[in-house]
Amino acid sequence: MFMISSLSGCAAPWDVTPVSSTGLYFDTVITITLYGHGKRQYIDECFKIADKYEKILSAKDPDSDIYKINSADGSPVTVSPECTEIIKAALSFARESDGAFDPTIGALSTLWDFKTATAPPNEDKINDALVTVGYENIHINGNDISLSGGARLDLGAIAKGFIADKMKDYLISQGIKSGIINLGGNVLLIGSHPNGSSYKVGIQKPFDDEGNFAFTLEKSDCSIVTSGIYERYFEYENRLYHHILDTKTGYPVENDISSITVITKKSTDADALSTMLFVMGRDAALSYASSHDDVDVVIITKDGSIIRS
Ligand code: ADP
Ligand code: MG
Repeated sequence: MFMISSLSGCAAPWDVTPVSSTGLYFDTVITITLYGHGKRQYIDECFKIADKYEKILSAKDPDSDIYKINSADGSPVTVSPECTEIIKAALSFARESDGAFDPTIGALSTLWDFKTATAPPNEDKINDALVTVGYENIHINGNDISLSGGARLDLGAIAKGFIADKMKDYLISQGIKSGIINLGGNVLLIGSHPNGSSYKVGIQKPFDDEGNFAFTLEKSDCSIVTSGIYERYFEYENRLYHHILDTKTGYPVENDISSITVITKKSTDADALSTMLFVMGRDAALSYASSHDDVDVVIITKDGSIIRS
């Protein structure tokens, strides 16, 4: 997903000139755009927020809360309140989807290594990992978290949205009224462009060159998040294996969706829902959107059709 710079016929006055910075956190290119001179300090602070949450949520950093929970062998670990907060948010989507979205997918998602693997994991290993997936294995007592049944946490489907919301909270507290938080395609729009117009957000055409859009949205004051099969995948024996996993089978979800874009107010919700509704499939996604006024979805099917809720 990419931002298209806003259309403006005349030179921008000094206070609406975009100030933008890019950094690399949690394996993700993140770009923050604010408007006006003197705003760079706030962008730097957003990068510090990214750093803070990377240290809490990383599954690889031995000092992180998530790493400690995952390696505690079922014992309770006292974590930061923010860690409890994101786990609770993830749990509510797990309950709502009856486990289609499940943050205890860690053992399974670690097995499916979409960075370097060229073939699917061994079937026995998939089945062993699958029995550890179950959100009822998460136990919360204040900020003490423990896991049962061999469960391992992976918050990859909700973390970027959660962190984007934290950055927005910070920016709003500093009086910022316009800006774009883009955490690797997880977009959160603050207010509208200072010239009063909406932002334009292009939605990537699956498997096409980066920056070729299937469609463009004109939006303000909301989050736009896409989950797709073209983001991380490998091909093996003429089949495509992608990174959104079916918690019933242990294999990548098989349906007719190529990508699903969720538009809603909070980025935590947009991120979790993009994964959850992908797993639940086209009909469930469209009916979810029709029963939730504040949630819009746009689905691109494998045959290239664009379906809007
Ligand atoms: P991305 O991180 O590429 O933007 P998503 O938000 O859809 O995409 O998250 C995909 C990630 O979520 C996977 O890499 C994996 O870590 C995790 N995941 C995969 N399947 C599920 C699932 N059914 N429930 C919860 N998390 C999942
Ligand atoms: Mg997601």
